[in-house]
Amino acid sequence: MADPAVAREDLAALLRWYVEQGLDETIGEEAIDRFSPPAAPVAAVAPPARPVSSRAPVPAPRAPVPLESPQLVEDARALAERCTSLSELEAAVRAFEGCALKRTAKNTVFADGTPDAPVMIVGEAPGGDEDRLGKPFVGVSGQLMDRMMAAIGLTRSGGFYITNILFWRPPGNRTPTLAEQAMCLAFTRRHIALVRPRLLVLAGGVSAKAMLDTTDGIMRLRGKWASYRLADGTELPTMPTFHPAYLLRTPASKRQSWQDLLAIDKKLRELGLR
Ligand code: URA
Repeated sequence: MADPAVAREDLAALLRWYVEQGLDETIGEEAIDRFSPPAAPVAAVAPPARPVSSRAPVPAPRAPVPLESPQLVEDARALAERCTSLSELEAAVRAFEGCALKRTAKNTVFADGTPDAPVMIVGEAPGGDEDRLGKPFVGVSGQLMDRMMAAIGLTRSGGFYITNILFWRPPGNRTPTLAEQAMCLAFTRRHIALVRPRLLVLAGGVSAKAMLDTTDGIMRLRGKWASYRLADGTELPTMPTFHPAYLLRTPASKRQSWQDLLAIDKKLRELGLR
């Protein structure tokens, strides 16, 4: 007979292993085999003899489009470019099915704060709290972000607008792949063009590298003004800074973040915005 104590230990070890692999949530009762080959293309299958029936014909299933193909990045870009308002863009993001992250996320996390505020912050991706509540930066690192911005007099109700490069939580908070970033970036770049903030803040290395299209790390980028160019040629002063989650792990770096915040405050004064 199986020893229940051993079985419990084995199960606990298996569960720990799942969590370490990033599988920290149950999203269904049945496992989905995402490695199974796609259904054969419809055209390759000989059509069945047409039944003599008065019922409407059942449409043939479409061959699945492989997720994250370059075509999907192009689709995202074309969809985003067609949006002429924030509400259109939000609806387009919510309706977009091309990013695999959407399948495992509970919510689409679009943005929070005041769209016509002078400062727009772009973070990396929603975490567990953001996924649950559908808003960016609402967990512990978001609370630190709010306190940091409040220290220079900026709040979500008038002082800043906040979003992420990714609109869906990567499972287990893993770093988003370049393909996932490219797809969501198409929408995020349009997001910035529609908001037209006076100043951009990039929170963390993933955001800074993606938005500034550089391989330099955040240690090199932070604290130095960069420029983000809109399609019409407008240059937005852009400050890459540490991600608040990093500051929670490395409190000694808060000193440098404070310098970044002071630089943002100074720039807002130079622009006549305070
Ligand atoms: N980290 C981010 O980059 N974004 C969030 O929304 C939450 C945590």
